[in-house]
Amino acid sequence: MEVLVINCGSSSLKFQFIDSVKEEVLAKGLCERIGIDGGRLVYQREGYDKITTEKQMADHTVAVKMVLEALQDEENGVIKDIHEVEAVGHRVVHGGEKFSSSIVIDDEVLKGIEACNDLAPLHNPANLIGINACRALMPGVPMVAVFDTAFHQTMPQKAYLYGIPYALYEKYGIRRYGFHGTSHSYVSRKAAEFFGFKPEASKVVVCHLGNGSSICAVKNGKSVDTSMGFTPLAGVLMGTRSGDIDPAIVDFLYHKGMTIEEIHSLLNKESGVLGLSGYSSDFRDIEDGVAEGREEAIRALDVFCYGVAKYIAGYAAAMGGVDVIAFTAGVGENDTGVRERVCEYLTFMGVKFDAAANNVRGKAAKISTDDSTVQVCVMPTNEELVIALDTLALVQ
Ligand code: AMP
Repeated sequence: MEVLVINCGSSSLKFQFIDSVKEEVLAKGLCERIGIDGGRLVYQREGYDKITTEKQMADHTVAVKMVLEALQDEENGVIKDIHEVEAVGHRVVHGGEKFSSSIVIDDEVLKGIEACNDLAPLHNPANLIGINACRALMPGVPMVAVFDTAFHQTMPQKAYLYGIPYALYEKYGIRRYGFHGTSHSYVSRKAAEFFGFKPEASKVVVCHLGNGSSICAVKNGKSVDTSMGFTPLAGVLMGTRSGDIDPAIVDFLYHKGMTIEEIHSLLNKESGVLGLSGYSSDFRDIEDGVAEGREEAIRALDVFCYGVAKYIAGYAAAMGGVDVIAFTAGVGENDTGVRERVCEYLTFMGVKFDAAANNVRGKAAKISTDDSTVQVCVMPTNEELVIALDTLALVQ
């Protein structure tokens, strides 16, 4: 079955067209600057060069239309007819407590997603716009919503409640939700199987380390705790996001004269590795800085790796041990130095790191020694494929 996977932002739309049975990407791309000047579509058929088309896109319906035309293009397309799009899988950021798994979209589901808009005001409305645009252009084609939060709905109450009045949880749904669920679900399963464990009888910690980072404790195939919280701002330090801080800092900065909007921007866009290093959010630049002995790079990387290690050790307590630690996403898959520094902290719990095996990027690999009590691996994530596979499973 050929599935179009859509990841819609407020002014952008990423897509992949996937043969979900063969698990192969046929084409992929991105529409940028939708609804504003300078719109463009970047399209790439697998194995071919990227093609960029500059064109104004008034709204997301126009963008989806351009994507469908590109897929059917005589020269570079991969289908002859729009009906070859057999299903559409939509990434939806927030499913609240309503959605604990992927679901076929109907009017009721749309209302449910809309009801979660409050929880992800920047993302869910954009996701809905994408769904509505696809429904308008492909009537009758089954569509599936795959939520970033759904995988974490198995967390026990002790992991998802915050220490604030319970009434606020009841009234507003303030609790830990967790994100990157499709990645944690896929990578935890793959990593368990990689070492010969059955996912349903394994304890895996997934370190999804990218621009946004989150750690997840996956016990017997289910998320039991995760580092992101009510929003994706919580948890470990990230590229530009602060991760966990004392909430009183917000109050303090407010009284120093910053507005709530300024503080929001500071914590989301100017903090993290960028804020600590003062020069970059990109871990490649940070590693270069460390190699040059730059103090500011060393401090940023130290805070990051220390924080990741503390989460992993904490999740060992949460699960009563760990069988497998998996590193994934841009930093986890590529930054050999981060993996080494994080694992150095974990020797006390039986992690024996294989420095020679660690010299690997972007592919599945064991990076612990044979006599390591806890197995460690690199496991590439593939969120689009998970969306395509969930869509296939539900539509079939
Ligand atoms: P993601 O959000 O998963 O796409 O990850 C993007 C991040 O991965 C970038 O900001 C880089 O910091 C990081 N990254 C990509 N390649 C490398 C590399 N070779 N070494 C270190 N970090 C990398």
